[in-house]
Amino acid sequence: MSNALIQIKDISKTFSEPKVSKTSYVLKDVNLNVRKGEFFILLGPSGCGKSTLLNMIAGFIQATDGQLIANNQEVIKPGEDRGMMFQQADSSLFPWLTVKENVEFGLRMKKIEKSERNKISKHYIDLVNLSGHEHKFPRELSGGMKQRVQLARVLANNPDILLMDEPFGALDAMTRKVMQQELIRVWKQTNKTIVFVTHDLQEALLLGQKIGIMSVGPDSKITHYYDVNLEYPRDITTSKFNEIYANIQQHFEH
Ligand code: ADP
Ligand code: MG
Repeated sequence: MSNALIQIKDISKTFSEPKVSKTSYVLKDVNLNVRKGEFFILLGPSGCGKSTLLNMIAGFIQATDGQLIANNQEVIKPGEDRGMMFQQADSSLFPWLTVKENVEFGLRMKKIEKSERNKISKHYIDLVNLSGHEHKFPRELSGGMKQRVQLARVLANNPDILLMDEPFGALDAMTRKVMQQELIRVWKQTNKTIVFVTHDLQEALLLGQKIGIMSVGPDSKITHYYDVNLEYPRDITTSKFNEIYANIQQHFEH
C-alpha cells in the first residue's frame, strides 16, 4: 500500500501535554491508507475523533506521534493539494461576497487573472448546478445551495484530495439525499480522492467505496474496514445493502 495517496502510520493525538502523567489520547495508533481516486468514509460516533483526524490530514493541527503522508509528502501544514469542506457553510462562506466571489476567493489569493478566474468559477458553478445564482449572497441561498457553493469553492482550487467533515449533517433529509447524489456525480466527473466524515451509517453506505470504522474514544482508532462493492447509485432497499448495513451496525451496539 506504499503507493496510497494518503498514508497514516501510528498517528496519536492528545490535546494535553504528553509528558504529564494520566495523559489521555483522543486518537491512539491510527493507521489508514487511502488510494488515489478512492471515496473513503470515516464512520464513528460523535466525539470519537473524526474531525481531529481530518484536521490532521488537512494540516490544520499536528499529530502528537506518528507519520502522515499525502501526495508523497509529510503533512506539516495545509496545502493546495488538500481542500476542506465543513458542515456549517455559514461559518465558512464569506457573507459579504457573492457566490461567484466566494468561489473565486482562492484564485484571487493566488493572483490568477480575471479572465482565467471567470473561466474557472463558471466551470465549477455549472458543475454544482448553481448557474444563474452567481450574483447572490449566501444569505439569499438555501442550506443545500450554500453547500454547493462550498463544494465549488473547494474544487476551484483544484486539490487532489477533498476532505469533507459531515458536510450534509445540517441539511434536511430531502436536501441531504439530493446532495449525496450530486456528490457522487461530481466525484465521478472530477476523479478526486475523497475522505468523508460521517456518523450516519446509511450515508456512509450510500457514498463510500471503503468505510473505516472508528472506535469510541479515548484511544480511538480505526478498528475495521469494509469494502462496499455496490454499484452507484446505491439502493437502500436491496438485500445486499441491508446485509452490509446490519454487519456494520453490530459495531455500534453496546
Ligand atoms: P468527532 O468529530 O468524532 O465528533 P472530535 O474530533 O471533534 O470528534 O473530538 C474528539 C475528542 O477530542 C472530543 O473528546 C473533543 O472534546 C476533543 N477535542 C477536540 N478538539 C479539541 C481541542 N482543540 N482541545 C481539547 N480537546 C479537543
Ligand atoms: Mg466532528
